[in-house]
Parts: sequence; structure tokens; C-alpha cells
Amino acid sequence: MFPTDRPRRLRTDGVRPLVSETDLSASDLIAPVFVDATTDERVAIESMPGHERVPVREAVDRVEEVLATGVEAVMVFGIPESKDAVGSRAYAADGVVQRTVRDIVAETDAYVITDVCLCEYTAHGHCGVLEDHAEADPRLTVRNDETLDLLSETAVSHAQAGADMVAPSSMTDGMVGAIREGLDDAGFSEMPIMSYAVKYESAFYGPFRDAADGAPAFGDRRHYQMDPANRREALREARLDVEEGADVLMVKPGLPYLDIVRDVREDFDVPVAAYNVSGEYAMLHAAADRGWLDLEETAHESLLSMKRAGADLILTYFAEDIAGSL
Ligand SMILES: [Zn+2]
Repeated sequence: MFPTDRPRRLRTDGVRPLVSETDLSASDLIAPVFVDATTDERVAIESMPGHERVPVREAVDRVEEVLATGVEAVMVFGIPESKDAVGSRAYAADGVVQRTVRDIVAETDAYVITDVCLCEYTAHGHCGVLEDHAEADPRLTVRNDETLDLLSETAVSHAQAGADMVAPSSMTDGMVGAIREGLDDAGFSEMPIMSYAVKYESAFYGPFRDAADGAPAFGDRRHYQMDPANRREALREARLDVEEGADVLMVKPGLPYLDIVRDVREDFDVPVAAYNVSGEYAMLHAAADRGWLDLEETAHESLLSMKRAGADLILTYFAEDIAGSL
């Protein structure tokens, strides 16, 4: 008790780093990379300053830029040359992600993670095969079990292209199990799965939809993504994914859901990832542009908070900027 106890003694410059409980390092970070099969040149993403969609032929250069900052892992998102009702370019051997991954693996040392979902590849923009008449009746959306086969096929095609890890993000019930079985049957039993186990139906994804051209043509994703009000359900989702074979559990978004990151950390012994999403990135940039916040300091504090909450790894659009400053 005061005056004996004085926590300020350990806050002087010399001792502060010695007693620091949490570290952030470049090896904790994964940089998202957007590869666009519809363009021949880089296209700036307006709502995500500093980020671009790059053509397939520049994907290796883009990854080299990431590696130069000290970040060693990338998450590849693809924008296909065409879309259809069943997202067939998601699992085509010559699809945008498959071609990109082959190039990156051949020419760089990056650890390559691929996003496995259909929403960027379906004309309707939903994360799977739609029910009949879904457009007319918003209560009908994605056919869960039919979607599983396509997700599994997508993951296997990424593995065949040389990806190091797959990250299914569609919140389809049973997706981890279906992908695990597909990978094992195709001879990829060593390929880890990072599941977007706890993915909320969040308004913080707005800028990403510009980046990946993935906004639903009608309706929303609340029938398959989680209600932001729910906490217990997050643990249920995480448990199911661990039982189905998830190697890493992700919570998305990050900052508004740090309590969930902590819950998942405490209940499971697999690594936990947090996704510092596009809206979290855009809002700091917008405030910094107005001179209201210091961009680098708030970005660093955001990521450190996720580590402190229990995340082992962080997907973030700040990866390159922050790695450069660490
Ligand atoms: Zn999706």
C-alpha cells in the first residue's frame, strides 16, 4: 500500500523496457496482399491509403516490398478476371490466387497464406452457393453444405499451387473439417489451417470491400457471420473449429473484440490470430490526416493491445509501416 508501494518506480526510461510485459515484432505480423486479375497496373485503394491492388505480374514485386520491411508472411487475396454463381475462379488451377502463389513461391522466401472464400468470386458476392430465390427473400442465403465441397476444392488448389497455409474465412459450418479432409485426401496432411473461427458481421469491413471488390450484391452476411453482441458463441465456434482440425484460431475484427481474443486465448492452446481489419486501419488514417491522432503511435498501440489481449499473430494493413519502425 502507498506510500510503500509506488508503481512509478518502474516507469523510468531505463527500467521501463526491462519490465515491459508485451513485445511486438515483425515476426508476429502478416501483411495482406491484393492481387487483381482484371488490371495491368497497380490500382490504389482509396479507403486504405498506401495499399494497392496489384496485377498478377507484379505480385512478386509486391511481396518483395513486404519482405524488405522484415515482415515474413503474406495473406493473398485475389480479385478474379470473372465471376459466376458458384465462384468457379476460386478453385480454378489457373485462377488468380493459384497463379500468384506459384510465382511467389518460386521467386521469394515469403510464408504464403491464402484466403479461402468464395465471396470475391461469386457474382452475387456471398460466401457460398446461394439458395434459390435468395435475392427475393433475404431469409434465404447460402447453402451451407454444398459450399463445403467448393471450399475444400479451393483449399486443395491453393495447396497444389504451393501455399504454406490456408485460411478459410466464410464461416460455413463444418468448413475446417471439410478442408482438412480435402487436404489430407490430396496428400497435404502437413498443410496447416488458420480458421477465421470467430468472424463477426462487422461494419469495420467497409474499406476491404473496396479493396477486394467483395460487397454482396444484395442482403448482408448476418446469416453466416457472428452477431457482434455474442461472446459465448465465439467459444462455441472456436471449439468446433479446433475439433475439426484448426491449427490456428482467428478472431476478426481485432480492436473492438479484444475481450474475445482474450477468451479464445484462455480457453484453447492453439495459436490465436487477430485481424486488425480495414476499418481499423482506415479510421486511424482518417484521424491522422486531420492531425487528430499520431498514425504510427496509434497503430503501434493498437497492435500491442492485440498481443496483450492474447494474440500470437496479427494480420494488419499496418504490417509494413510498423515493422519498419520496430
Ligand atoms: Zn467471404
